Amino acid sequence: MPRSLVSFLLAGAVLASLLVSAPAAALAQAKSSRLEYRERTLANGMRVLSAVDRSSPTVCINVWYHVGSKDDPDGRSGFAHLFEHMLFKGTRNMKDEQMDRLTEDVGGFNNAFTADDVTVYYEVVPSNYLETLLWAEAERMSSLNVVDKNFLSERDVVKEEYRQNYLARPYGRLFLEIEKKSFTKHPYKRPGIGNIDELNAATIDDVKKFHSDYYRPDNATLVVVGDFDPKQLDAWVDRFFADVPETVDSVAARDHSGAGANGRTAPHGYRAERAVARSGNDFPASETDR
Ligand SMILES: [Zn+2]
Repeated sequence: MPRSLVSFLLAGAVLASLLVSAPAAALAQAKSSRLEYRERTLANGMRVLSAVDRSSPTVCINVWYHVGSKDDPDGRSGFAHLFEHMLFKGTRNMKDEQMDRLTEDVGGFNNAFTADDVTVYYEVVPSNYLETLLWAEAERMSSLNVVDKNFLSERDVVKEEYRQNYLARPYGRLFLEIEKKSFTKHPYKRPGIGNIDELNAATIDDVKKFHSDYYRPDNATLVVVGDFDPKQLDAWVDRFFADVPETVDSVAARDHSGAGANGRTAPHGYRAERAVARSGNDFPASETDR
């Protein structure tokens, strides 16, 4: 047995004995250090929270939209989750699923989830890609392609999620019933996944209205944590988000005569690449991942 392994095992044994013998009261009194963070609000209403953590050369970017399954329109359950899928489609300057290329191709990852009260998009990337990801998040906030082709394809994906996660699995329907029976009137009673009939009844106009009602800077909070320079972050946030109007129309509903969305341009070195679709599921949960 190598010496390093012996040392490792001894250290583990000592640690285990300490944990076993540590009084519960002492553990209960353990305090975590206070998280230092900065907060600002842009003129268009978007809230920005940030915290520097240089323990690794990475950054995590979150955009929290304050809309969730409780906000699904009547007769259109599953809408917030459907819209979560739509945000991975193209924008004025991005191809479908390009968020995957901007993250996974540089060693990072991304995903999103829909909960009762929020829909959250997040990426973790090496810190030198922070500028690119801020640009990309501003892109999908301001110039999403809300068009029939994307809507119909993502609606089919969501319907398949419903079949796979709830109809095909043992006890799948039980979890739907638990949500329905837990509330009598509150919109939390509607499962975030929706149902096939209501998804079928949804139209592109419903989707556009949902987008303009909720996907806007004054209904969003940007959170950035990791290895970055705060002044540089503020400059990039101002550059990409400050001129996103409070009411954001989809690209499809807008005049295409302008150049880049609101004059914002891609960061230097940005390169468009072909995207590859993918899907992922969580089960069972009130939150719904892509
Ligand atoms: Zn999904």
